Amino acid sequence: MKEMTIKDLTEILKEKNVKPSLQRLKILEFLFKANNHPTVDEIYSALIKDIPTLSKTTVYNTLNVLIESELVKVVNIENTESRYDAIPEEHGHFKCRQCGKIYDFHFDMNLIDSQVPPGFIVSEKDVFFKGICRECLNNNI
Ligand SMILES: [Zn+2]
Ligand SMILES: [Zn+2]
Repeated sequence: MKEMTIKDLTEILKEKNVKPSLQRLKILEFLFKANNHPTVDEIYSALIKDIPTLSKTTVYNTLNVLIESELVKVVNIENTESRYDAIPEEHGHFKCRQCGKIYDFHFDMNLIDSQVPPGFIVSEKDVFFKGICRECLNNNI
């Protein structure tokens, strides 16, 4: 994943006709950098030092703008918490039941197209797996 500069992010927002406000830039930058599917609480805690005027409501609202512009995706692996993802290319998720980490992995979503019943139109595709990650398996030996 290439490093995103504020200039890159400004361009990305402008392309989607989203005004590049400080909050939007910072939150998008954090999502690209963090790359670990943070929750609203995690985004808020990480950015409050940089943006003292930030509130959790602002984080929610900003995320919603970014979601509508298709720059951010909600990752709902557990229905108790929403996590956010700024990776533009389609990928699958693997959640480890032991350490709780969510891994990205390359997944060709076109592979599942043939499974869709005829006459249906797909607007969103999600691939989630749960299990035990390699690290946890190695630690258990
Ligand atoms: Zn694990
Ligand atoms: Zn992801």
